[in-house]
Amino acid sequence: MITESKQAKRLNSLGINIKTFFYDNGKKKQRNTDNSLNQDIKQGIIIEKDYYKHGDLLRKEKSFDSRISYTYEFSGEDKYTCKNCGMEGEVKDFTDGCPYCHTNYNIDYDNKELSNKKYYDLIIKDKSYIIKTFILDIVFSLLLVGIYIYNTSRTFYTFDIIKIIVIGFFISLVLFFIFYYLDALIILPWLRKKKEKSNQKQVEFWNRMQKYFISKTKFYNNLNYELRNLFYSDKYKDVVDYDILDYNSLKEKEEDDKLFVTINIDIRIIRLVNNKIESKIETKEFLLKRVESKLELTKKVNFIPCPNCGASIDATTEVCEYCGTPHNYLQEWYLQEL
Ligand SMILES: [Zn+2]
Ligand SMILES: [Zn+2]
Repeated sequence: MITESKQAKRLNSLGINIKTFFYDNGKKKQRNTDNSLNQDIKQGIIIEKDYYKHGDLLRKEKSFDSRISYTYEFSGEDKYTCKNCGMEGEVKDFTDGCPYCHTNYNIDYDNKELSNKKYYDLIIKDKSYIIKTFILDIVFSLLLVGIYIYNTSRTFYTFDIIKIIVIGFFISLVLFFIFYYLDALIILPWLRKKKEKSNQKQVEFWNRMQKYFISKTKFYNNLNYELRNLFYSDKYKDVVDYDILDYNSLKEKEEDDKLFVTINIDIRIIRLVNNKIESKIETKEFLLKRVESKLELTKKVNFIPCPNCGASIDATTEVCEYCGTPHNYLQEWYLQEL
């Protein structure tokens, strides 16, 4: 499938398989990058991703934003006839081109949504930071009391150890409640306000976009198409996967009748470094320029003729494989890294 081809090429060369688990209408569904299982998803959310190299599990990722949805629908059994040689078959037989005459067909999903942010409600982030704070807090208090007692008593018996534990635990509780109270009083409302503001701005952005007839689904699909081209290019040699975790801001400007959108996202970038999976969340900014695209992928089968020789183009390459003429296949939005 054209949506996945760039990443698939990289994963195949490294022997990596990614199993993604979705939550779709109350059901758990799965898609594997090695194509061993690819269930259709309709506005599902990702709940887990498992990274395998040559069958060994290297990493699990479990934190995803439940407001970002995904759709992958493909009816590969539909009939299709090759435009060049007339071979008849099912659409899925043409994924790697016509099996008979090798004419390129750029095949895409009937319906897809990639990292589409549908909802702007607030979600409460996971509570694991509270547990971590509490553990740190206990260790800190025990050390504090321990040092104090060790330096002030002339003798050091078992009784002192019990004293350290009891007093240390008590102090840690007091500190924890102070922290918890301050957190609830100062930090949480401030964070909430900030998030609400940025959500409101994004809702307004999408309202303004209506006058340009811009579809949100298409915009996010296009963004992901461009991100894939970027992350699976030679510039990012060790990237094997990425996930947009949240959209922080979207801003548009018009220049010479052209529309530009600056987008700021939190993105988790997964790299394979020395046979280990490295995962890092980064905040990145990109500029998207809206272009008049003559060639635009439609659903399902795309036959794109070369502007020079008329042969069918493979949209994932840069030149026509028959005559070598460059084709600037572009989507509606063209991306630049900032
Ligand atoms: Zn054919
Ligand atoms: Zn050509």
